[in-house]
Amino acid sequence: MKASIARLTQSRNQSGQVFISYRSKYNSQVSDLKNYLESGKFPGGQPKKVRYFPPGSLSDEIMTEHRRWQIVSMIDRYISPANEVWLYETDDYYDSWWTLAELATLDYQRRSGYEADQKIPKSLKIFNPKTKTVHDAPDDYLPVLSNQQVKRIARWYANCDAGSGGPEGVTHIRRIAQIPLIGRLKYFNDHVWSKEFWEYPVLECANPKCKTIGQHKNHFNVDDFLWTRGQGFYHITPKEMKTSIKSGKIQCPNCKAIYQFKEAVYPHYQWMPLRMGRPTGPDGTSLIKLPTYIRL
Ligand SMILES: [Zn+2]
Ligand SMILES: [Zn+2]
Repeated sequence: MKASIARLTQSRNQSGQVFISYRSKYNSQVSDLKNYLESGKFPGGQPKKVRYFPPGSLSDEIMTEHRRWQIVSMIDRYISPANEVWLYETDDYYDSWWTLAELATLDYQRRSGYEADQKIPKSLKIFNPKTKTVHDAPDDYLPVLSNQQVKRIARWYANCDAGSGGPEGVTHIRRIAQIPLIGRLKYFNDHVWSKEFWEYPVLECANPKCKTIGQHKNHFNVDDFLWTRGQGFYHITPKEMKTSIKSGKIQCPNCKAIYQFKEAVYPHYQWMPLRMGRPTGPDGTSLIKLPTYIRL
């Protein structure tokens, strides 16, 4: 066990040193920063390996909660090897559910994950694109998740993670296994198995009047984030969706902005894991088709 953890640690350290968290519209600047860091030209810096998500990966999909958490669980895996995380702190850095997801998962990892088990310190740095300088994030920078919020993220990941069998997957499942038996009985009534979670697309209104989740920057409301709720998030029922599919439009109930969308030609499919010999898909199926909608 110790040897395998050592191997894992080693492969993590080799597979990437810096992860850059940023808003995808700044892709070209972030690409320059990556080259700069990799060449070792950054003041006081040695050459570092840099990773970030290419833009467009998150597309214009109107995503269900399931789809969101599936992607966040991938982001969590992707960030985990980095021993440094740089936040490319543009003025609009905090105005995205996705960058907040990265901050939340960093605290999740710190609290319950790799670092707690394996003592890999992750240093957090804030890059100012205007001054092109970097400083260490204050110690209290990350949101502090409650135990309940940590368990909630573990629950989302364990049931949305596209990969399985990898060490991170096992870690997620172990976290779930720590839930006492009585909790496991309630397990299948959890929101994570609800039709809403899997099938209700969540419209995120882009109007700044509605999109307020990042207004307190890194001090965002973690519960609103976890449940994609509050102003700016609108969970569309299948009934509303039916009407909207006919018109090709969804209206924000708050500001009345209209969004046009269509059903994707290629829906997402997901293999459901087996638990106690049974497929865990909503109707006892193992390959399920997930409705997918694209904003125009
Ligand atoms: Zn919901
Ligand atoms: Zn709106």
